Amino acid sequence: MFKNILNLFYPKVCLGCNFLLLSNENVICTRCRHEIPLTLQHLNTQNEAFKKFYGKIPVEFAATFVYFHKKGIVQQLIHNLKYKGHQEIGTVLGEWYSNDLKQTLHVQEIDEIIPVPLHKRKLKIRGYNQVTTFGKSLASNLNLRYNENILFRTKYSKTQTKKNLLHRIDVNNDTVFDVEYNSKDINKHFLLIDDVLTTGSTLEACGKALLKIPGAKISIVCMAMSH
Ligand SMILES: [Zn+2]
Repeated sequence: MFKNILNLFYPKVCLGCNFLLLSNENVICTRCRHEIPLTLQHLNTQNEAFKKFYGKIPVEFAATFVYFHKKGIVQQLIHNLKYKGHQEIGTVLGEWYSNDLKQTLHVQEIDEIIPVPLHKRKLKIRGYNQVTTFGKSLASNLNLRYNENILFRTKYSKTQTKKNLLHRIDVNNDTVFDVEYNSKDINKHFLLIDDVLTTGSTLEACGKALLKIPGAKISIVCMAMSH
């Protein structure tokens, strides 16, 4: 009752389409949930996300959850997650995707989830890493450890959203990431996670850093893939 009255004054809207949410809907409305284009890459190990890393770094498994289209629902969701403080989007997408990922055998071989890190300075400005809630949600639903202490960024790169592709590749050279590990981190299978897979160069650089750890294996999962 109290919740309903609150909703009268502060109505909750869908973070994908801005329409009012029904009382049984949470964060993303039913219509958006049906319209969001799922990649279904988890069903095919030789999928297009996996192929992005061919000849670059050895990857055991790679998949993205949904397709990112300009002006689409997913762009709206990522924007709200990244710039408007709506971290609950990551939680919802993580819960949703973990149901799919549970069907793949590969997930059972993974030891830890590692987020692509933000630089400390950027973290201070934004207040949070946009992949944290997604990663923690996957970790709790898949019974995996979430570890944000191994991989870190060594230098600051300016926000890349407004730069062209060429410049973006240039910014993300593999000197940007490094690892800090000890003996308990060796021989582990890491699931590297990020928000949107575009060229894959950031993940490739992160993967190269993680592969400095003896016996490391890498898998990759992203919320979305630009298409
Ligand atoms: Zn909606």
